[in-house]
Amino acid sequence: MKKTILILFFAAVLLFTLNSCGEKQNPQSGKLFITTNYPITMLMNEIAGNNEDVWCIIPPGATEHTYAPKPSDIRLVENSAAVFYISDNLDAWLLNFDDINKIQILDLLPDSLFRYFPGSAHSKKNIDPHFWTDPVIMKHLVPKLLEIMLRYKPERKDVYTKNAKLLTAKLNAFDIEIRKALKPYRGRSLMLFHPSFLYFLNRYGLNYAGSVEPAPGKQPTLQDIATLKKTIEKLNLKAVYAEPQLPKRSLKILTHGTDMKILELDPIGGGEGKHNYFELMRYNYKNIIKGFAD
Ligand SMILES: [Zn+2]
Repeated sequence: MKKTILILFFAAVLLFTLNSCGEKQNPQSGKLFITTNYPITMLMNEIAGNNEDVWCIIPPGATEHTYAPKPSDIRLVENSAAVFYISDNLDAWLLNFDDINKIQILDLLPDSLFRYFPGSAHSKKNIDPHFWTDPVIMKHLVPKLLEIMLRYKPERKDVYTKNAKLLTAKLNAFDIEIRKALKPYRGRSLMLFHPSFLYFLNRYGLNYAGSVEPAPGKQPTLQDIATLKKTIEKLNLKAVYAEPQLPKRSLKILTHGTDMKILELDPIGGGEGKHNYFELMRYNYKNIIKGFAD
């Protein structure tokens, strides 16, 4: 992993140096777009039509909630064409950089598309940042990402534009696929590990039965566990969900002595079978269906 980052870094430096020699070259053309979120990277890779223009600095298995950048990440960020990050309340460490092009994804979409953390005031800092679990919102994001990517790499206009069109069509078809698959389960309830799939549940008519961890890494108290158990009984839930980026400890306490299934929902992706957005979200909705089985 480290080696790949280093190679990419030197490749970026080399490309930049080469490009800066030619007068007509766009100074950004050899530089990488940096992201802090895999699903956004997946969309941008589809627009780019390759896996080389965009680099996600948060590796699979890590979560941006608790991520601490390494020195190699800082070098990549400083030498990037632009950094695409989710929100000031999720990737706060990026705020320390002044001299880079920062694109906050939350700024690219109208507020009407966003949800707020339950019970909080409707201000920007309370926006639930996990909007990428909703393919319809991702579709709205495509033309915005395209526009910004072209600002830095205008020479890729034809390829990027064609790919963005294809991606929009794929997201449309995917929304229909999920809608159909989940239709028989409309109105059913789901208990999450942390509040990472509220946009998805809302989009496809599923109910939110609460989260095992109210915030990632925040362990439930014994009283929380008792309340969750009551909810599970009342709603007759057959499964609870783990997330691969977070430790399962509290789930084991919750399901101890019951025959509940522990399934997985992955809000981030990357790794085997979850390389692109469609693979990732298909994996997730199929696990949701599994959780409704008796
Ligand atoms: Zn999260």
